[in-house]
Amino acid sequence: MSEKSNLITSTQAIIHEALDRLGFDEGMYELIKEPMRLLTVRIPVRMDDGSVKVFTGYRAQHNDAVGPTKGGIRFHPDVNEEEVVALSMWMTLKSGIVDLPYGGGKGGIVCDPREMSIQEVERLSRGYVRAISQIVGPTKDIPAPDVFTNSQIMAWMMDEYSMIDEFNSPGFITGKPIVLGGSQGRDRATAMGVIICLEQALEKRNMELKDLRVVIQGFGNAGSFLSKILFDRGAKIVGISDANGALHDPEGLDIDYLLDRRDSFGLVTNLFDDALPGKDLFKIDCDVIIPAAIANQITEDNADDIKAEIICEAANGPTTKEATKILTDNGKLIVPDVLASAGGVTVSYFEWVQNNQGYYWDEDEVNEKLEIKLKKAFNDIYDLHENRHIDMRLAAYIIGLKRTAEAARYRGWA
Ligand code: GLU
Repeated sequence: MSEKSNLITSTQAIIHEALDRLGFDEGMYELIKEPMRLLTVRIPVRMDDGSVKVFTGYRAQHNDAVGPTKGGIRFHPDVNEEEVVALSMWMTLKSGIVDLPYGGGKGGIVCDPREMSIQEVERLSRGYVRAISQIVGPTKDIPAPDVFTNSQIMAWMMDEYSMIDEFNSPGFITGKPIVLGGSQGRDRATAMGVIICLEQALEKRNMELKDLRVVIQGFGNAGSFLSKILFDRGAKIVGISDANGALHDPEGLDIDYLLDRRDSFGLVTNLFDDALPGKDLFKIDCDVIIPAAIANQITEDNADDIKAEIICEAANGPTTKEATKILTDNGKLIVPDVLASAGGVTVSYFEWVQNNQGYYWDEDEVNEKLEIKLKKAFNDIYDLHENRHIDMRLAAYIIGLKRTAEAARYRGWA
């Protein structure tokens, strides 16, 4: 079995157990174990040299019992059907955990934007929207940014959709530039959510942010904002990594210096002669590890090397099922991805609400609302984990699935 389809089977195993504990039968599992809709598209794009290249894209809609589906669009050479499917299921869980009126969705295009011109990326983005336009929309399925997509790409996609729809449709997509109806605080929302969860986790372990030794994997949107906010609040970032390698300094890295030099895809370690191989990152002596890159990074092969007491998952799916067990048995506190990374979709929801009502909030109001949602979610999950003696991930799945399963039962779907 490939690593990728492993993402689906291990997610299904936890979904099964969570539904079982919630008292739902096999019929409910049959409904929820896979997305209700999966569209594969082929997108012809005129490249700058005059040739036409055909790209493959996907949009998965896991379950819309609660409301429209919602989730990002990933541009990456490793995008594939299984990954998009697993990511759409995780979006259902995130929305359930922070109590948003959405189901999960996810999209992706197999491409490498690092090797494309801006014009080629624009044509690809617009072509993708044309290809999926029939199944998306402000009350159907609402996309957002994900790996290697940003507010500019959201703007092109919104513009393309508005032309098809013949209306200005800001609520079609979130993560837009502020002038096009984006929300204050959306750009750093994933990082803020991770930090709110981390603060709660530190409290449980009687630890403090001041002088906390943190290792962050990934220097993209989440990783760079995270390192900056934690550094400014007095933590020591003792290790970071990107797609090229890792940097380590037991006294703490100079984050402002590194942020100044990183490129728009989060690459910085290539500028240093003393960069370590990326795989050495998790061996670094530290208090907290924040995986903020891609899936399947902490596995049974490296979980035992981890010295940190808290693993706060900013990426989607960074820790395998086997590694979750090893870490939990070793007494580590895992803040699971579906909780720790839910800040992005939470502020996306706020953006959509603001678009629908046409009245916009300031950043303090957004952050206050985000904090209320994530604190409650963390503590509900932590209490369930303590009271039922189950790991944090299973507790998160139980809370994350409850609403979707109940809504599906009321609708008569299971
Ligand atoms: N791509 C982000 C995630 O995986 C955000 C999704 C959204 O804002 O809808 O959570």
